[in-house]
Amino acid sequence: MTSPCPLCRVVDEDILYATDLYRVIAVNDPAWPGFCRVILNKHVAEMSDLSIDERSALMQAVYAVEAALRGALVPSKINLASLGNVVPHVHWHIIPRWENDSHFPDPIWANAKRDWLTKPSFDRTAIIQHLTQTLTQ
Ligand SMILES: [Zn+2]
Repeated sequence: MTSPCPLCRVVDEDILYATDLYRVIAVNDPAWPGFCRVILNKHVAEMSDLSIDERSALMQAVYAVEAALRGALVPSKINLASLGNVVPHVHWHIIPRWENDSHFPDPIWANAKRDWLTKPSFDRTAIIQHLTQTLTQ
């Protein structure tokens, strides 16, 4: 039986870094520069379904993406979110936020409060370089 889960298949993903356990992708949503996801490769619904080592390795990737985005984009805040209500397959959203972005201080999934004035540009190469240096050890 094929899984209907969209995160179990890799289709048209912009992969920045990958291991056997997870992949880091750039969401490439023009509305949210720098929006990345860390997606577990296997179909598991909750963090507590993972071994301690797997949890640790996954979170190290989340923190590495956070640090890379902070360095490259200098956001006002990073939002980390793991919901999984729609797709119950462990994945983390890492979202750079700015005080003048369209939704701040609400979550990006809320209604917009204003238009962006200027959007920062996403330096994909810098992010990949940081992830590779941080996670390949
Ligand atoms: Zn899945």
